[in-house]
This record gives sequence, structure tokens and C-alpha cells, in this order.
Amino acid sequence: MDLECLTVESTRTAIAEKQFTASALVDSFYEKVRHDDPDIGAYLTISEERAYAQAERIDKVAGEGNPLPPLAGVPIAVKDVISTKGVRTTAGSKLLANYDPPYDATVVARLESAGAIILGKTNCDEFAMGSSNENSGFHPVRNPRDRTRVPGGSSGGSAAVIAAGTAVASLGTDTGGSIRQPASFCGVVGLMPTYGRVSRYGLIAFASSLDKIGPFGKTVKDAALMLEVMAGRDSKDSTSAEVPVPAYADFVGQPVTGLRIGVPTEYFGEGLDAEVRSAVEGGIQKLAEAGCEIVPISLKHTAYAIPTYYLVATAEASSNLARFDGVRYGIRAKGVKTLAEMYRRTRDEGFGAEVKRRIILGTYALSAGYYDAYYLKAQKVRTLITRDYDEAFAKVDAIVTPTTPTPAFHLGEKADDPLAMYLADIFTVTASLAGIPGLSVPCGKSSEGLPIGLQVLGKHFDEATVLRVGHVVEHALAGAQRTVGDDV
Ligand code: GLN
Repeated sequence: MDLECLTVESTRTAIAEKQFTASALVDSFYEKVRHDDPDIGAYLTISEERAYAQAERIDKVAGEGNPLPPLAGVPIAVKDVISTKGVRTTAGSKLLANYDPPYDATVVARLESAGAIILGKTNCDEFAMGSSNENSGFHPVRNPRDRTRVPGGSSGGSAAVIAAGTAVASLGTDTGGSIRQPASFCGVVGLMPTYGRVSRYGLIAFASSLDKIGPFGKTVKDAALMLEVMAGRDSKDSTSAEVPVPAYADFVGQPVTGLRIGVPTEYFGEGLDAEVRSAVEGGIQKLAEAGCEIVPISLKHTAYAIPTYYLVATAEASSNLARFDGVRYGIRAKGVKTLAEMYRRTRDEGFGAEVKRRIILGTYALSAGYYDAYYLKAQKVRTLITRDYDEAFAKVDAIVTPTTPTPAFHLGEKADDPLAMYLADIFTVTASLAGIPGLSVPCGKSSEGLPIGLQVLGKHFDEATVLRVGHVVEHALAGAQRTVGDDV
């Protein structure tokens, strides 16, 4: 079996046709993980016991000739901010180095009941704060396409396992770009669903009004198949929406003739790498050739998105991370004499520099006297950014932009410059603030062979159109250079 070419669909078919058993597949994946991952660093924890138990269940159903569930035998990896019962879940933080959750996140439970096999937990920036995976409390991840470069972040490990072929699909989270940006850097597909589309129950919160869980895969269809299982109302998350879940995969491959595609001028200005521009323009050209109408649009508050995002996200993070106090979860500082000292030392020893920076910034933005000037102001600008999208979507069906201004940068290149790192999110944060869905799909390569991603944004709960549009770009690229899965 060629692990690097397996897709969700081809894995399930192979198991249904008894080309191999789920248990043999898990053996092969773990062999590859043991061989390839030490140099990449994408896995933090391997969940062998759980994976083999699930594989045996699938093999039994297949052996008895019973119908298989939709993701039967598909080996997946889960970002380490998502709770897995009895399997260590660290959020990439030393503070949670010993934390075994007592329950499963809803997405994990849904994927497993659909037959997916969880191979392990993936490395990420601590509490999902970062754009390069260098903020992991354990070790960075190397980009499998060029190991001197970052895989992006914060879901760097989840993107890297797809690029390395050490899982068939994976879960990430996106608060300001953390699925789309690493997907772009690693040359894989990553989907951020609409806010409320997928339950956040069991997700270790970073910024609750922005956090979304979404899938990574080799193909747009794989992302669609994963979303179908993950999406839908969950009584355990009051922000999950009561919106019907369509058969997303059925939309992949449907014609796009007559769709209006908005191209925002603000996303093609200064700071955009020339090769990224030409690859994305090439993708837009393919959409035009497929019958889409290309419509220039303006998202006029884009310039304010980074400060707005970094105020809202840090404010919410400062509140969410207050729960890590040495009492309830994770590590506790030793040799302390008072309660206050225990709080202080536990947090000092457990949190890394970026997390501390954000807690301080967020606490400041929420403090009496500054709340109106910073947090409230940021919320007002957030509304203006959302209105930009409302106005645009009155005229177009989807919006296409570059996912990132540059291809993957080198490890260490921006590590000491938080502002330069924050600017890497310039094209992803506006959609996060507006709560709309976004997909990153590979659209070409730089002259150095680095992947370039094209971002497709859609109306609230219109993932179907986003996937349809993304597939056209993927299909055009697959014709030019077959680097991804074989069923595109
Ligand atoms: N890179 C952004 C940040 O550091 C986004 C992170 C995310 O989406 N989780 O906040």
C-alpha cells in the first residue's frame, strides 16, 4: 500500500474490498511514523491502544460483510488542543504536559463513530497561539516539503502529517488562520468551517468567539467527507448551529458555471510576494475558464484587521487561560508556601513567552479605563469588517485571495519578532472575525518548489460553494502537476 497516496475515499474502498485490513494499515502507518516523524516532529503523542482497538472493530464489521461507516478505517491525527479521553492532551503547553482528559471532544466522538482511527495527537503552537509552530512548549515542527522551513501554525503538526503521509486526514483549529495558513505552507487542503458549524465541545479554548475546528486532507473531497461527519448541532455547545448538514462531498466536482467570484483589491497590494501573486492569479484564471464571472470587489477595512484580531483574541485568551491555576489541570509548582505563590509559579513555569505576552496584552485591553479605548473599539471595527463581507456577498457567491503573503519562511526567521509573525496572518484574520468559512487549496509552487495556497471564502454556512470552487483550482493544478492524492 502506498501510504502517501491514500485518501479518505481510497482508504475506505480498500478496506471494504479487503485489499488490506484496518489493523495492517495501522501497523504500516505507525512504522512510517516511527521512521519519518522524528525528523519532522509532527506527533506529540501516539495513541496505539486506542487505534488498534478501533481497527479491530472495523475489521470485525468488514469481516462479517456488514456495511461500513463513512470513514471506516481512515487513519487520522488530532491537534493536541482537542480533548481525547485518556489520551494525553497538552495544547502544546508544558502546563498540560501530564493532562489526560476525562472525556472526548464531540468531533472526536463523531469521527470515531464514523469509523475513523485516531493515530495520535499533533504538535501545535502553545494554546494555538502562533503562525509557525515554533511556540510549541515541546519542540518545533519541520515542514515536510522543505525541512529548513516552518510548517505554519498553529496547526503545524496537523498540516505536516498530511504532507508527510503519516496520516490520511487530520483535525486542526483556526482562530485567525491556523488551519488555512499551515495548509498553504505545507501544500495540503485545509478547511475552516463557519463559526457554529462544528461543535467546540472538548476544544481547549483560545478565543471562544473565533475558535473553529476543521479538517485537513490531501484533497478537497477529503475535507468535505470529514466535515460531513463533524458538522451539526451539539447540545453540549450552545454556539453550535441548528443548520442542516448537506452531503458536502456531493458538491465537489459540480460545475461552477455562472458563479460570481469576488477578487478583493486590498489583497493584491504591497507585501504580496510576486510568485504568490502569479500562482493565485493563475488559479483565478482557471475559475474564469471554468465559467465563473470574476468580479473586482473591495473589503475596505482590511487594513484594520490585524490590530482588531490581536485585541479580541488576546482579551478572550486572557480570560480563558485563567483556569490554568495549578489546581484543576496539569502541573503544579513544587515547594510553594502560599496560594498566590502557587498560582504565580505554576503559570510562570507552565506558560511560554508568547502565551504570557498575550495574557498581559489581553488583560490590559480589558482593564478599567482601557476597555473602551481598545476592546470595545476592536469590537466595533469587527462589525465593520463583517459588514464589508455582507456587502461583498450581496454581489458575489465566493471570494478568492492568496492564503498568505509569502510561502513558508525559515525556522527562526521571525521567531524574535512578534509583529512580523502577526503580519503573516494578514489574509486570514478578516474571515475569522466575520465567522465565515474559508478553504486553502494548493494552487502552485514557487521557483524554490514551495507550495502556494489559494484561499476561497464563502457566505455563512455555505461551505458547499467554497468546496466546489476550491475543487476547480485543485483539479486544474492536478492536471498541471500531480503532487497530491490520485482522485482529484
Ligand atoms: N496565527 C494566529 C495567532 O497567532 C492565529 C492562530 C490561530 O488561528 N489559532 O493568533
